[in-house]
Amino acid sequence: MKSLKTAFFCIVLVFLIPLTCFGWKGKVVGVADGDTITVLHHGRGEKIRLFGIDCPEKRQAFGRRAKQFTSSLVYKKRVEVRPVARDRYGRTVALVFVGKLSLNEELLRNGFAWVYTRYCRRDFCSRWRKLEEEARELRLGLWADKNSIAPWRYRHFKKYGYGASAYSVASLKDFASKAQQEVPVIFRGNARSKVFHRPGCKYYNCSGCSVEFRSREEALAAGFTPCRRCSP
Ligand SMILES: [Zn+2]
Repeated sequence: MKSLKTAFFCIVLVFLIPLTCFGWKGKVVGVADGDTITVLHHGRGEKIRLFGIDCPEKRQAFGRRAKQFTSSLVYKKRVEVRPVARDRYGRTVALVFVGKLSLNEELLRNGFAWVYTRYCRRDFCSRWRKLEEEARELRLGLWADKNSIAPWRYRHFKKYGYGASAYSVASLKDFASKAQQEVPVIFRGNARSKVFHRPGCKYYNCSGCSVEFRSREEALAAGFTPCRRCSP
């Protein structure tokens, strides 16, 4: 009988250990932006990227507000970090809790983050999308701006964008409204040669490339021929 009790106790213990060891705790010593913080771990600062969400970039509208929001919740506080994965920069990707509050969820709930649908593949992600949607309906945080664009698209546009010259912080509004139209690619045609190019082509910003098309079909219909180099 006694051995049975011991056995039962051991089994319970085996189940409890992973639960208690799952996360670690540390003080937040830095906030880089809404979704990236530095937490003291074994005496050194560890960069933590919040799992499954994406906050506006620093230079985007509401980027600073998202950072402030995160700071107000966790800066200089002790948090629990529950690692989920590592990203390609080697950073820990994690769920972060301050007390019982989930920082990831609070950012969504208050309209300072998008669910990073591409990477959020856990069963709670559908609940997270609801949090995002509710914030959107209430026009909280970044949702006050109709032209808000998801940061991954922002980064994409910044990289492949509307040509380097077209991109500047000053033209952000214009940029946002273009992105809002769900147009991932703008082709550009040379008005003289009637050849059109895709973004990234070395001729994309040519002096005669003043005609813009939203699709390959539109360019073809206008009598333009695809560039041989970038084959749009
Ligand atoms: Zn081309």
